[in-house]
Amino acid sequence: MAANLPGPTCVNTTPSPSLESTAPAPESPAAITFESFGLAEPILRAVHELGYREPTPIQAQAIPVVMQGHDVMGAAQTGTGKTAGFALPILQRLLQHANPSASPARHPVRALILAPTRELADQIFVNVRDYARHTHLRSAVVFGGVDIAPQIAALRQGCEVLIATPGRLLDHLGQRTVTLAQAEILVLDEADRMLDMGFLPDIQRIINALPQRRQNLMFSATFSEDIRKLASSFLQRPISIEVARRNAAADTVEQVVYRVPDVDSKRAAVAQLVRERAISQVIVFTNTKIGASRLARQLERDGLIASAIHGDKSQQERLATLEGFKKGEVSVLVATDVAARGLDIAELPAVINYDLPYSPEDYVHRIGRTGRAGASGLALSLMTGNDERLHQDIEKLLKRKLEVRTLVLDRPVAAAEERSGHRPDDDDRPRRTRDDRGDRAGARSGDRRGPSPVAPPIDPFFLKPYEPVSTDTETAQQASEKAATASRGPIRPARRVAALLGGGPPKG
Ligand code: AMP
Repeated sequence: MAANLPGPTCVNTTPSPSLESTAPAPESPAAITFESFGLAEPILRAVHELGYREPTPIQAQAIPVVMQGHDVMGAAQTGTGKTAGFALPILQRLLQHANPSASPARHPVRALILAPTRELADQIFVNVRDYARHTHLRSAVVFGGVDIAPQIAALRQGCEVLIATPGRLLDHLGQRTVTLAQAEILVLDEADRMLDMGFLPDIQRIINALPQRRQNLMFSATFSEDIRKLASSFLQRPISIEVARRNAAADTVEQVVYRVPDVDSKRAAVAQLVRERAISQVIVFTNTKIGASRLARQLERDGLIASAIHGDKSQQERLATLEGFKKGEVSVLVATDVAARGLDIAELPAVINYDLPYSPEDYVHRIGRTGRAGASGLALSLMTGNDERLHQDIEKLLKRKLEVRTLVLDRPVAAAEERSGHRPDDDDRPRRTRDDRGDRAGARSGDRRGPSPVAPPIDPFFLKPYEPVSTDTETAQQASEKAATASRGPIRPARRVAALLGGGPPKG
């Protein structure tokens, strides 16, 4: 990993005529270590325990600048290590307040980190807690969609670092279960997402509840005019930090677009790519909640066990599914953009765009789920003839052409069969009955789950040549059943699939 450290003494604190000045380019590519930042021993110990060997480029730039107390505007794509880029120097700055007192009054909120989604907030919290584990600094997280009472109890204990989604934080402020009167540092993470989600008025109200004198950090993967306006409204002489080209995707991610004949072929294409590429874990993105749900069910039929999470399921259930995915118990997570926002799954090897996103920025966010922190990743996209405009929009944003291949399916898919969600080998399982509805209920109940196998098994069915059915003498389903009976092999080990839902309406 490149280690580009601007030495603390060479930071340009003079604002340029434009909004912000820029952190200077590294003077030499000499190996930079976490030790060279002057971080305290308890923080360094935690970093080493987490296995971080050297700072990522954003950390190399951000840590010294934040430690010096500057405001920062960070153009950091997901997976660059930006959380540690701001969290480590924040902890370092707060160490002066660290104390072992049990009194909550001795642990007021000193740093507030705002994030757009519950998942991202929770993820940042876990990171901060890990980085602070050898200090007396306390952290807490509050987000909506869950019972507020445990959060009130946690806030009563006191915490120097509070991570929050805007809406729930306003609830707490309204109920006076938290005060920000002693906050010294404000971080807006994934600011572009917060604006997309309409949080601007909430953010403004929260800023009004903070002391005027404070350090402000803002991170965003993309930079629109609105983001710049927000930045100019509350950042003071910010240092600009940019580690990758704006709106660019991580270089470590191999990106391939596969042409498929039609929408009906996509499910088979996903199953085939997972198998051919020996993908152990993947997030599959769809543009709609219904699409995610349906795809998870269909992938079940390909030998992958489904554990769908619907938008109306509780936040705890969503977090539990995420946890299962992180632990490797779930190998395919079918997700919409909103649900997947900010997810950090360490070393996620691949993402698949089942649907190309309506907004090209979402492509950058999606593929940022893989290739995180310098690891290599795979971003595969499926494209039909109708997706050409979306494909062009993505290439325009990335300012480069993507590799396009034509995917030859092992087994052509009959459109009617695909739409009905029924595959010939459905009846190849002892659990199945002719009552498809009952069968689906059984699938959702999770009664077939195995102990988290990851490599997809080769289904002998796929190795058979395609045999067109004669509709004169038998129905397609009857013929399919025969084919399945003929190819019946050992029962495949189960793999888990989850649909993580919560997507908003498609953007135009
Ligand atoms: P982030 O972009 O902050 O979401 O971080 C992405 C992932 O990279 C997280 O799993 C971090 O734990 C991990 N990470 C952050 N910094 C480093 C580092 N210097 N070395 C290795 N992994 C890191």
